[in-house]
Amino acid sequence: MSYSTDRFEEMVEALRQRDHRMTPQRLAILRILAASNGHPSAEMIFDEIKKDFPSTSLATIYKTITLAKEMGEVLELEFSHDSNRYDGKKPVPHPHLICTECKKIIDPELDSVNHLQKEIIRETGFKVTNHRLDFYGICPECQKK
Ligand code: ZN
Ligand code: MN
Repeated sequence: MSYSTDRFEEMVEALRQRDHRMTPQRLAILRILAASNGHPSAEMIFDEIKKDFPSTSLATIYKTITLAKEMGEVLELEFSHDSNRYDGKKPVPHPHLICTECKKIIDPELDSVNHLQKEIIRETGFKVTNHRLDFYGICPECQKK
């Protein structure tokens, strides 16, 4: 599966196939989810959307995220003490790097996860269906501060 194709178009198409009404607000939300800059929370998306659509509610943001999530078009990263964050760019399990200072989350480009998964399967006999791999630290920008 390739993620170089336009994720926004793919997400719109997927939701349209289920015959969901595409409002300008919903399209704007999908665009932010597809770009996944820093892996936004619902509140971060809400703050962006409000600039162009002041009447949008946080509930609308959540509804769209839930829909995209149900269709496997967005990956949810749950945190117990912080807001959940979302990745529509790459909606399958993959490792994340989390900056504990500015809270941004990025996708490292790694080949080693496939090897790790194969090793785990070989060692344990598990049928692995999902994984969550987070690295915490301080990003280069925050290190300069
Ligand atoms: Zn940072
Ligand atoms: Mn990601």
